[in-house]
Amino acid sequence: MKELTCDIFITGAGAAGMAAALSACHEGADVILAEHDDLPGGILNRCIHQGFGLGYFGEDLTGQEYAARFRDRLRSSDVRLFTGTTVLSVSDDRTALMTSADGLHQVHFSACILASGSTERNLSSIPVAGTRPAGVLTAGCLQGMMNLGGYTETGDHIVILGSGNVGQIMGRQLIRAGKTVIAMIEQEEHPGGLARNHRECIEAYHIPLRLHSTITEIHGTDHISAVTVKDLHSGKTEILKCDTLITALGLIPDRSPAAGLYRNGTFPGWLSLCGNCDTIYDIADSLTAQAEQTGKRVCRSLSRR
Ligand SMILES: Cc1cc2nc3c(=O)[nH]c(=O)nc-3n(C[C@H](O)[C@H](O)[C@H](O)COP(=O)(O)OP(=O)(O)OC[C@H]3O[C@@H](n4cnc5c(N)ncnc54)[C@H](O)[C@@H]3O)c2cc1C
Repeated sequence: MKELTCDIFITGAGAAGMAAALSACHEGADVILAEHDDLPGGILNRCIHQGFGLGYFGEDLTGQEYAARFRDRLRSSDVRLFTGTTVLSVSDDRTALMTSADGLHQVHFSACILASGSTERNLSSIPVAGTRPAGVLTAGCLQGMMNLGGYTETGDHIVILGSGNVGQIMGRQLIRAGKTVIAMIEQEEHPGGLARNHRECIEAYHIPLRLHSTITEIHGTDHISAVTVKDLHSGKTEILKCDTLITALGLIPDRSPAAGLYRNGTFPGWLSLCGNCDTIYDIADSLTAQAEQTGKRVCRSLSRR
């Protein structure tokens, strides 16, 4: 096993990890940044729509363009970036284990920033009867398949469960790709997400929104054929035929690499969280600002010791 040493070890090179690494490095810290994927950027890499960078760069960029700007900055910085590298664990003795095609590395650090992002809440988080046939997938999974993998073979008649930003953006993308969004199902009285997305996705693309409703059953054996939709006010149900169900049920902070360190409601003082693994952010610009502050604060706390 190879041994490495640094001042600050950062897990995850999405928008948050890249910003935290650059600001800590700018303050003089020796930083190792470890990223599971080959390309730093995280969620940004899946986002081909505009709406990023208005606050930070004063320009309306796609997620991919926003990520590329930070990758350029990383390239011309002294941050030691390890891509294709998964952080397996962060331990009490201020070491982390990470693995890649080069083998196992143990990293010794003074402070650690967790920027491991979020996972998607999936169908298992709500009570839905029926089987789990092909054609049921999360919005983020589909977004990655379409925008990074070039996949276009989704079904043609799509139901989306959840009306937050992610569901709205995928609804618009599917309609632009020639698919029919039969319904967007939302249990609340109002759609979720940003007003801008409501305007530019639901209204502009006439996505049929069913409020105070949920899905109670999935039909189909090998492949999904329909869903049962229940109106939560009247209790009435209706079967909607479809060949694809996209779940967009929200994001949950992912702190799994440091899960063993969470005791009595807190992490040790040398471990900080930033980005979606701290709080779920709708806007990358404000997440970037928070992550930069975290990088700076952690570096300054080391130099005061
Ligand atoms: C569909 C969608 C649309 C959005 N649209 C907009 C928009 O229009 N405008 C806007 O401003 N914001 C938008 N956002 C919000 C913003 O893009 C995200 O909140 C932000 O990019 C998240 O950054 P992050 O670094 O916290 O997490 P992520 O991007 O999830 O990055 C986490 C990184 O950590 C890595 N990682 C995780 N665990 C490990 C491990 N154990 N070892 C190594 N690496 C690990 C992952 O591979 C990933 O690269 C959108 C978000 C989504 C989901």
